[in-house]
Amino acid sequence: MKNLLEVKNLKTFFYSDAGVNKAVNDVSFEIPKGKTVCIVGESGSGKSITSLSILRLIDHPGVIEGGEVILDGKDLLKLSDAQMRKIRGREISMIFQEPMTSLNPSYTVGYQIDEALKLHQKHLNKKQRFEKVVESLDLVGIPDPREKYREYPFKLSGGQRQRVMIAIAMACEPKLLIADEPTTALDVTIQAQVLDLMKELQDKKGTSILFITHDLGVVYQIADEVVVMYKGHIVEKASAQELFKDPRHPYTKALLHSIPIPGVTPRKSKLDTVDDDVDYLSFPKEIR
Ligand code: ADP
Ligand code: MG
Repeated sequence: MKNLLEVKNLKTFFYSDAGVNKAVNDVSFEIPKGKTVCIVGESGSGKSITSLSILRLIDHPGVIEGGEVILDGKDLLKLSDAQMRKIRGREISMIFQEPMTSLNPSYTVGYQIDEALKLHQKHLNKKQRFEKVVESLDLVGIPDPREKYREYPFKLSGGQRQRVMIAIAMACEPKLLIADEPTTALDVTIQAQVLDLMKELQDKKGTSILFITHDLGVVYQIADEVVVMYKGHIVEKASAQELFKDPRHPYTKALLHSIPIPGVTPRKSKLDTVDDDVDYLSFPKEIR
């Protein structure tokens, strides 16, 4: 099988007195084994809700109304809660935007990676786990990993904390890593390092990555395949190469022109930013 994950006709709605917000409305895409798929779109387009739906982490008033999320042939939406808990962290890991809110400030970074190993690699004993923690800190490029084991998160830089999050997410060697705007809070140089690191780990372990971002510059650096979301819908799906060379949907074109990418798109001009007055859903969807 070429695809690790297949999302088919996924619908996730939020209900309130004001009505229904169709946050994810009939979304379908695939993640090939060992590849990086980027979901790109503006704030509120449904990127995070798509990824949280894959992990079945949608709480009231949100409801997954329909569709299939097929991982290695099994539909995650049909599993029991207990079966789903085993999938999270073991087969699919997730990294979020703000590492300080995901790391616990009261425990050392080594302890927190060790906790992930305890949960997901039960065959390892304490000494083996220690070595594995040091190895994973080393793998994500944290200097002096044996000393860093005993440090608390506040002692590390933002970039190092995000690396620790990646170490935790990779410690259980997931088949799929979901990264939701993991570099947005980082400065450009550190961001590029973290992206390189994820690519490197992908090459070594064959991990598939679902990478969520509003930043087309990041898409350009990391994506094999791109899914463009707009108001809960996919308006265009293409390989990264095709998308940047020949964007088809007016929304994709507008998005491309709103963000300058050196050597790819012209400098930002006021006229070219994404126009709130245009209803891009009125155009035919250019799904290749
Ligand atoms: P993105 O990640 O692309 O910025 P989201 O997936 O977070 O966007 O949100 C998609 C839509 O779902 C938005 O309209 C947002 O307001 C709505 N939404 C997200 N979380 C909730 C929630 N907990 N309750 C109600 N609506 C929500
Ligand atoms: Mg989001």
